[in-house]
Amino acid sequence: MSGKRIVLTSDATMMSNYNGGVMLGFAAILPASMISERIFRWLFCPPVEAAPDGSAILAPCGMRKVEAALLEAGFRRDEVIVAHPDHLDKAIGPDTEIVGITHDDPMGKIAIREIEEMIGRGAPYNRTKFLELVGHPLIKEHKPKVVIGGNGSWELRGEDVGVDLIYLGEGERTFPSICRKIVAGEDVGGEIEGEIVPGDEIPVNMGATVGGIVEIGRGCWRGCSFCSPTMRRPRHRPISNILKDAEVNIRAGQLDLILHSEDAFQYGSAGSEPNREMLLDLVRRVKDLGPRTVDVSHMSLASVYHHQDLLVEITEIVGIGTDQKYMSAWIGIETGSPRLLAKHMKNKTKPAPLEIWPEIVKECYGLFSDQSWLPVASLVLGLPGETEEDVVLTTELVESLKENVGLMLPLFFTPIGETRLGNARGFGKDRARPEHWELVGTCLEYNLRHLKSLHRYYSERMTAGLSQHLALRGINLLSDYALKKYLRRMKRGEPPN
Ligand code: SF4
Repeated sequence: MSGKRIVLTSDATMMSNYNGGVMLGFAAILPASMISERIFRWLFCPPVEAAPDGSAILAPCGMRKVEAALLEAGFRRDEVIVAHPDHLDKAIGPDTEIVGITHDDPMGKIAIREIEEMIGRGAPYNRTKFLELVGHPLIKEHKPKVVIGGNGSWELRGEDVGVDLIYLGEGERTFPSICRKIVAGEDVGGEIEGEIVPGDEIPVNMGATVGGIVEIGRGCWRGCSFCSPTMRRPRHRPISNILKDAEVNIRAGQLDLILHSEDAFQYGSAGSEPNREMLLDLVRRVKDLGPRTVDVSHMSLASVYHHQDLLVEITEIVGIGTDQKYMSAWIGIETGSPRLLAKHMKNKTKPAPLEIWPEIVKECYGLFSDQSWLPVASLVLGLPGETEEDVVLTTELVESLKENVGLMLPLFFTPIGETRLGNARGFGKDRARPEHWELVGTCLEYNLRHLKSLHRYYSERMTAGLSQHLALRGINLLSDYALKKYLRRMKRGEPPN
């Protein structure tokens, strides 16, 4: 087997459709010592299907974009493969010159740090699986250039684990020319930043995506201090290309679609006001393609707050309550403190003043409940300049939302190289004060309260069989029991162990 010239792949934690429940993918941040590999693959991260040639039937959207860009740039189909990690023997051989790995959190530096620090049970699955992949015997034998790209590529800075090139930023414009240089034997250095790609240059995918992700645009004008600068230029894709990506998924049987951008409400907008016609036309035309469900990946709460009727219209077009039970979106609450917003997220509430942020969040949660939307919210702990009072305000805000179904994810602040806070000190257990533990405990309490509803809602999209559903129900019960011990300690302001 001579191998393909360019092999695009990732590890098992990225190359999975998570039994149809993207939330199950979070198990990848748990310590590998906690769950046996067999259970992990059966319940949480079952591998995507493989074609007879070793290619993956589903792949992360970013990897699909790079695949399409390479083919558009003139690489031949027989030179490029999106390879299944369990079948690398069909992809990597003596002719392989580049192995490009896409990853969101290869070293577990984002989400896992708090789990690892809180419960101290060793390395998480995502890091374990990523290190297994870069240490694959065929990579060791044939020595292709190993390039890491994707949202988590920055995590490899300063790490000596067999990665030759860290590729930051967007892939479609720059990555094909880098591949040409590598193939020509030129030295490309150890780190590269890809050029920002205009919306109409983002190519149409050649294959289906994990989670049914369909990219509609990139970037966000709100300019938070901890967010990547690549984000600062909002761009949107032409509707024709979005529909083609949706069709590629539907043809492959990927019937649950997620429209992906930083803020779905900004689709087609040149400024800060939504472009109602374009957004509603997009949702209508995607819906007309006949997917089983439609979700959006991210929304800004301020956009929702200022255009509540738009959310109601989307709810009607998608057919929540008739065609699908609920619709979900990721949102960033980040803090309950207007003071901290003024420091790091000064555009977060625009055009409303920062002072009414808690009211914006509460009103949106009321609307989500009325319209059967399921918000998955992130909170950030330990931002530079955060005070005890800021954390208390966040805890109070979470408390006030407890009747509204959703998920609350408290994340430790992690400085990312190219952001304005790139050199700031990260947050960790060593710096956590009693009010931080109380906040984490309040979030855990919130999540446990809604676990059953979440499972019920998510089961609509899940491809898991009866035994897997029963196992998940069992885990719900067990986590309720097992986590209450931690919860009680944290709510008293004590660390969990
Ligand atoms: S609102 Fe979200 S995507 Fe926009 S700049 Fe802030 S963190 Fe980034």
